[in-house]
Amino acid sequence: MSQMNGRSVTLLLLFLLLLGILYVYITQSYRMILCSPDNEETKDTGYAGEAIVHNHELQMPLDDLQYKQPSITQGRTDVVTVTPWLAPIIWEGTFNPVLLDSIYKPKNISIAVTVFAVGKYIMFLKNFLETAEQHFFIGYRVHVYVFTDRPNEVPDFKMAAGRQLSVRSVPSSNRWQEISARRMELIQMLIEEKLYGNSDYIFCLDVDSKFHDRWGTESLGGLVAVIHPGYYRDDRSRFPYERRTISKAYMAAGVGDFYYCGGAFGGRLKDVHLLAKTCRSNFEADAKEGVEAAWQEESHLNRYMWINKPSKVLSPEYLWQDFKERNSEIHIIRFSGVVKNYAAIRPNQ
Ligand code: UDP
Repeated sequence: MSQMNGRSVTLLLLFLLLLGILYVYITQSYRMILCSPDNEETKDTGYAGEAIVHNHELQMPLDDLQYKQPSITQGRTDVVTVTPWLAPIIWEGTFNPVLLDSIYKPKNISIAVTVFAVGKYIMFLKNFLETAEQHFFIGYRVHVYVFTDRPNEVPDFKMAAGRQLSVRSVPSSNRWQEISARRMELIQMLIEEKLYGNSDYIFCLDVDSKFHDRWGTESLGGLVAVIHPGYYRDDRSRFPYERRTISKAYMAAGVGDFYYCGGAFGGRLKDVHLLAKTCRSNFEADAKEGVEAAWQEESHLNRYMWINKPSKVLSPEYLWQDFKERNSEIHIIRFSGVVKNYAAIRPNQ
C-alpha cells in the first residue's frame, strides 16, 4: 500500500513539473509576441506602418511641429556646451524652448522649489515670488516651499492656476552659517515627507535673488548643478573649495571640474535626495570633529558633484550676481542675486 502511495506521489510530482514547464513555455512565447515591434502601441500619424513607443523621455506629441532646423556645424562658438563627461551645459542659444515645452507640456510634470527666508532674509521673499511668477516654469505645476521662522511675514500672494505656496516653520538661528548648513537636512526631509509621489523635480534656490528671464524645461535633468558666476573664468586652483583634509568636503589641489553654486541646484527627486542626505551626513560628521567647511553646504555640494557628476550643468545665466558686470558670453541673465548689505541682514558676521 505504502509502495503504491510512493509511486502515485512520484507520478503526481512529475505531472506537476511537466505542467510547470508548459506554463513557463507558454507565458514566455506570449511575452515575446507582445514585445515584437509589430505589436508596439501605435498611433495614427498619417504615415502607414509607423510605430510610436509611448513614454520615451523626449517624445514629440505632434509629428508636424515646425521649428528652426537644428545644426551641428553652427551654433554658440564662444562657450563650451558640453562637459568632458558629456553632460550638456545650458546657455542661451543652445536649446529651443518651443520644442522643449511641446515635449514636456503633455507630461504634466510638477516642480517643487525650496527657498529659505530665515530672519531678516524674509525681506527678499516678495520679489523672489513675484518674479518667479513671471519667469519660472510658466504654464507648469509649481509648488514653492518657503522655510521661515517668520511665517506671519510671508507676503499674501496670489499665484497663477496650478501654482501653490506652502510655508514651513523652522527655528531661528543666531549664526547664518547654521541656517545655510541646515538646508540640506530640511530638503532631505521635505522630499521624504512630502514630495515623493507628488513632484517630479525639485530646485533649491537662494531667496536673495530675482528672476529676470526664462528658467524652464531646458533646466530639467537627473542631477542639475549651476556654475558659480564668480569663478567660471578662473583656474581651479583659485576655486574656494574646502582644502583641509580633515573635512569631508576636502578637495585636493589639482582636482575639480567647476565651482558650483550652493544657491541653485536641483534635478529629479531621488538624485537631489541622495545629494542632500550625503551632504547632510558629511556636514554632521565634520561637526562632530569640530570642523565647518569653508563655505558650509556649498563646499559639501562641490565635493559631491565632483564625485557624482551632474547630468546637466546650467551656465552662470542661471545664477548671476547683480553687482557683477555682465560678461560678453552672458546673453541673458535668468536669475541673479541682489546686492545686499550683509552687516544689516545677517544675524552675525
Ligand atoms: N539665509 C537665510 N537667513 C540668513 C542667512 C541665510 O534665510 O540669515 C538663506 C537664504 O535663503 C539665503 C541663503 O541662505 O539666500 C544663502 O545665504 P547668503 O545669501 O547669505 O549666502 P551668500 O550666497 O551671500 O554667500
